Amino acid sequence: PETITIQELANRMSERGVDVIKLLMRQGQMHKITDVIDADTAELIATEMGHTVKRVAESDVEEGLFDTPDAEETLQPRPPVVTIMGHVDHGKTSLLDAIRRANVVSGEAGGITQHIGAYQVTSPLGGLVTFIDTPGHAAFTAMRARGAKVTDIVVLVVAADDGVMPQTIEAISHAKAAGVPIIVAINKIDKPDAKPERVRTELLQYEVQVESLGGDTLEVEVSAKQKLNLDKLLEAITLQAEVLDLKADPERAAEGTVIEARLDRGRGPVATVLVQRGTLSVGNIIVAGSQWGRVRALIDDQGQNCVHAGPSFPAEVLGFNGAPEAGDRVAVVESEARAREITEYRDRQKREQAAVRGSGARSSLVDMMS
Ligand code: GDP
Ligand code: MG
Repeated sequence: PETITIQELANRMSERGVDVIKLLMRQGQMHKITDVIDADTAELIATEMGHTVKRVAESDVEEGLFDTPDAEETLQPRPPVVTIMGHVDHGKTSLLDAIRRANVVSGEAGGITQHIGAYQVTSPLGGLVTFIDTPGHAAFTAMRARGAKVTDIVVLVVAADDGVMPQTIEAISHAKAAGVPIIVAINKIDKPDAKPERVRTELLQYEVQVESLGGDTLEVEVSAKQKLNLDKLLEAITLQAEVLDLKADPERAAEGTVIEARLDRGRGPVATVLVQRGTLSVGNIIVAGSQWGRVRALIDDQGQNCVHAGPSFPAEVLGFNGAPEAGDRVAVVESEARAREITEYRDRQKREQAAVRGSGARSSLVDMMS
């Protein structure tokens, strides 16, 4: 059943909690301020205290924010979004760095490439590939927990001198649970004790069957250190992306996900947003979690200002009123009033959830306004 704490009910009516408790007492119910009451009781109290009650369902407030269907003819191909996963020290960071550096136009080499949590490179087969630059399972899990599906492809890094390890297995199960295809990058093949064949057979145990063993999982032997076969890895990603037939409508209002966010001393809240559908533009009003703002600037992974960011494009977004959280979904809304309505609703929901957790009750929420 829907519930609310007495404190939250009082807050929403701008009444004192003690007055609510007194009223309940007169009706023969003894309560503390932190107690949870059901929606019908809350509605009775509110009416009794002279407030008009409007129950607002989540579906009303969040209506149409995400996942409204696109017409087939509006869809355009978009770059794949790739996350690198694997056991600690198997070379995730090295591989991300090597791919990025290899792609930096010469002359710019050694120049400024700034870390914004995601970057794009050009595939030797043409087209772009977007890498999420925060390797680690925590980020992947956090995003999934918030309902964000960010990754199209997981590159599973396995060190050829170490083989399948606990976090390799964890990564496989994450990818499988999310329904995301894996490409196996057997790393450190430059090492004298590298045993890539052993990696292939070990993976069989976890139902990852690479192509050379008759399966359909793409595999590439690489060395992040010696920069071997990085092109082959990018090619494999592009091939896999073609199979997935990734598309998005670039014309519609943007939707995306916060990859990382922080409070910058000089620039205020800064969030890296991966745009997933539509195009995000300077001037758009956006919401993410319980934060909103008007996009003041968009900055790409080269540190360049841009006016628009289309599907699969990562950009730093300036203009949020506060820093959202990694994994928060981002949507463009039509007005500041709408942005406020959504974020205030989510704020209330958060408080309510915390209160319900604090009171030990396990219930859903009622949302009431007076
Ligand atoms: P992560 O924990 O998965 O991010 O792994 P790192 O990228 O930090 O790499 C762990 C260690 O392995 C570092 O000392 C790297 O220099 C080394 N390493 C990474 N890739 C290679 C490789 O291809 N060959 C060799 N020989 N060493 C590598
Ligand atoms: Mg690392």
